[in-house]
Amino acid sequence: MPTRASDLVTLGLRIRHFRGEHGLTLDQLGDRVGLAGSQLSLIENGRREPKLSTLQDVATALAVPITELLNGEAPNTRAALEIELARAQKNPLYGALGLPTVKVTKGMPLAALESLLGLHRELARRASEAIATPEEARRANTELRELMREQDNYMPDIEQLAEDQVQASGHVSGALTHREVSVMAEQLGFNLIYVNDLPGSTRSVTDLVNHRIYLPPASIPGGHGLRSMALQAMGHRLLGHERPASYAEFLWQRLQINYFAAACLMPRNASVAFLANAKRERELSVEDFRDAFGVTHEAAALRLTNLATSHLDMTLHFLRVTGDGALQKGYENDGLPLPADVTGSIEGQFVCKQWSARSAFTHTNRTTEFYQYTDTPAGTFWCATQTGATDAREFSISVGVPFVQAKWFRGRETTQRAISRCPDESCCRRPASDISSRWAGKSWPSARLHAHVLSPLPSGTFPGVDDTEVYEFLEAHAAE
Ligand SMILES: [Zn+2]
Repeated sequence: MPTRASDLVTLGLRIRHFRGEHGLTLDQLGDRVGLAGSQLSLIENGRREPKLSTLQDVATALAVPITELLNGEAPNTRAALEIELARAQKNPLYGALGLPTVKVTKGMPLAALESLLGLHRELARRASEAIATPEEARRANTELRELMREQDNYMPDIEQLAEDQVQASGHVSGALTHREVSVMAEQLGFNLIYVNDLPGSTRSVTDLVNHRIYLPPASIPGGHGLRSMALQAMGHRLLGHERPASYAEFLWQRLQINYFAAACLMPRNASVAFLANAKRERELSVEDFRDAFGVTHEAAALRLTNLATSHLDMTLHFLRVTGDGALQKGYENDGLPLPADVTGSIEGQFVCKQWSARSAFTHTNRTTEFYQYTDTPAGTFWCATQTGATDAREFSISVGVPFVQAKWFRGRETTQRAISRCPDESCCRRPASDISSRWAGKSWPSARLHAHVLSPLPSGTFPGVDDTEVYEFLEAHAAE
């Protein structure tokens, strides 16, 4: 027996269809099966589930097998449309609009039916477009990274916009102050307001009626985060953003506001002057750039990727890697072979254990950068890595360049060298065969879930787990 509401609708329509073929009215068929016409009507409208005995009587009266009534298909095209509309009106998506349910009757013109259905289909299409599956999210992210790589991670229009805005605030040099950021907001017609009760899912909220930008209170007095968040909120206004219609557009807006905020905190002209001078002195370092502009190490490293190729004639790469070796963010236009999955997505992939992005965890004390030359199948790269930790875990920020460009950087004289053969799995991805044979099939690691929304599941015995590390851990502890 059908139990779902939509199946009852189909059943009802099939009964009505066969009743019509026999030229019977509701009351006439009702008489034959011992039901009032009104009760039969409820069944035909899918609002009452018939007893099996009733169904049998109806089948007999209409001279069709009972299976013919229970067949899940619409009896004809018109009925198929009616069923679809009945289903669409029961959808929570429609319910959320608080609109009345239209009773689908025999007398409803076909055009009205088609028009309503067309609107329902479009509503469903728009809703599903706005919801990104992790796979769509990863794909959109990859497309964006490739687009930015093609333009050397540089957006001239936003650079100019930021340059003009910062100048208008009266800023002269060095770190952009909170006061100057407030002035920028005022010039846009907005007040910055710091509150304790921002919705948990937001970083800032802009009130377009009262022209206010609500921000969380500073966790660290004078912290860089607040200036950045206020600038990002302003970026939405200055760049004319509208509510994103897709996940790809959401990502694109995020990238643009982040770019704008970074270009305000480290304005193009002042930054290029600073970096070009450091390059001339052969003293380039993310550390100094960071300190000169009062930003985080990561912000300075990312900003360097905007300016290095367009203004300093250098190619480079940037990596943010978590303590377990997974790539959180990456950029390269210098040929460093970033690990990627079959879709080209890099987020969540493990970088080579030999790279400074990972070896730095074992070498540094977090106060200074760690320098290393790494030979890879794509050539030798020099990298500077800074490690740090958030509440939850360790991470490392690396900026590196091909060997020939290392001469511009502080740390070029390091004697630290490593050889990476990745993506050849025998480099660091496959455990030694004796260890492997001892532990394969005899261990059961439980994966730590990566909170990152874009985190893919790398292939392996257990998704999200680095087999090699598990096996080596077991090997080391087994001897104890
Ligand atoms: Zn490797």
